[in-house]
Amino acid sequence: MERADVAIIGGGLVGCAAAWQLARKGASVVLIEAGDINAGASGQNAGSLHFQIERRFLENGDDLAEQGAQIVALSRHAVTDWATIEGDLAADLHVAMDGGLMVAETAEQVALLERKAARESHEGLAVRTLDGEQARTIAPYLSPGILAANFSADEGHADPRAVTPALADAARREGASVRTATRVRTIERDAGRFRVEGEGLALSADQLLVAAGAWSTEICALVNIHMPLYPVALLMNATERTAPMVPHLVQHVGRRLSLKQTHAGNLLIGGGWPSRLAQTPNGGFDLSARAQMIPESLTGNLLAARDVVPGVTQLNLIRSWTGVTAISSDQLPIVGPVPRVPGLWVAAGGSAFTLGLTFARMLADAMTGGDADELALLSPARFEHLNGFMG
Ligand SMILES: Cc1cc2nc3c(=O)[nH]c(=O)nc-3n(C[C@H](O)[C@H](O)[C@H](O)COP(=O)(O)OP(=O)(O)OC[C@H]3O[C@@H](n4cnc5c(N)ncnc54)[C@H](O)[C@@H]3O)c2cc1C
Repeated sequence: MERADVAIIGGGLVGCAAAWQLARKGASVVLIEAGDINAGASGQNAGSLHFQIERRFLENGDDLAEQGAQIVALSRHAVTDWATIEGDLAADLHVAMDGGLMVAETAEQVALLERKAARESHEGLAVRTLDGEQARTIAPYLSPGILAANFSADEGHADPRAVTPALADAARREGASVRTATRVRTIERDAGRFRVEGEGLALSADQLLVAAGAWSTEICALVNIHMPLYPVALLMNATERTAPMVPHLVQHVGRRLSLKQTHAGNLLIGGGWPSRLAQTPNGGFDLSARAQMIPESLTGNLLAARDVVPGVTQLNLIRSWTGVTAISSDQLPIVGPVPRVPGLWVAAGGSAFTLGLTFARMLADAMTGGDADELALLSPARFEHLNGFMG
């Protein structure tokens, strides 16, 4: 049987970044991917590097907003990780960090922006609040209907099609073995090690990292552990290419919208509009089938884009697609060691395009003898009560 220090399940951004970081620290690593590298959410997403508190944390009351604010400490690390990744990998990932605006169209939303900025400055993230005129001075493409915006100088975007393949290449260069088209079917505990098996794979590893995105719950079930992550399907849209128009990441504090212009000139429009997950005949969600677009989501998303950046109405929509990611029961990602199973680690959920490089770097430190203190907020230990009856 093949042996490794670490087995990683999932060839998305998180798994590939962790494989690279662990291999460069000298660990022997086998990364196992059911399909192809970047086949999951990491290749389907909007590519936003958003460091301001996300709208989804702001719309459900102060407690959740407070929790969302705590993740800002990790976002500050993510700023540095993204600013250095192209140099570290010697690859062009189309990273653009020219600033991000979170806009408001109503007085209520302006008040929300102000409360958000106060929380962010308390957590050490520099965000400026601009009135509508000031916002249009730096972003003339914004509608006259924008009353205010929070501006974060570090926000931006990167190319989801480039990042994860480049990380996988870097992991290979550092000696990691990357197995695609290899679905993990069983995991057994064997004398303190993990015996991981799938098509053409029989591997014994000291440590196991589950980085399987929306599939992480079913992988954890193979080790008899509950991991409260839920799949969600989201909509994305792309317009035809146009001349440089939107140099920033644009988000909305009160409506579902993210908008940016890619290096190639297309506008990418998303922001968390739902799609419908496919179902299995016995009532569960079928993650192997494509999620279905919901027409109202498409209309809602495009109307929000039009209201914020009226110039989009001059562009043809050339592509819409759905992608599946995972959200945990408290909305925070789940990252760190699983207390009940020594050697088992998980990293899944949340906005792991923005934060995935940081999770991977911190996990690699912790898995090679460092501590996981900076990830404490995200620890799987907060759900340990769910596993009290699991053997
Ligand atoms: C439409 C959309 C837009 C988004 N926009 C943003 C954004 O702008 N910014 C942001 O920060 N985040 C965004 N996200 C979230 C972000 O994409 C994810 O958090 C991130 O990509 C997760 O990466 P991952 O490596 O954890 O998982 P994934 O990329 O999903 O990778 C998991 C991998 O595990 C593999 N796998 C599953 N089961 C098995 C098995 N049994 N054996 C082996 N391999 C297996 C899958 O094939 C898959 O490749 C968005 C998500 C979506 C869907």
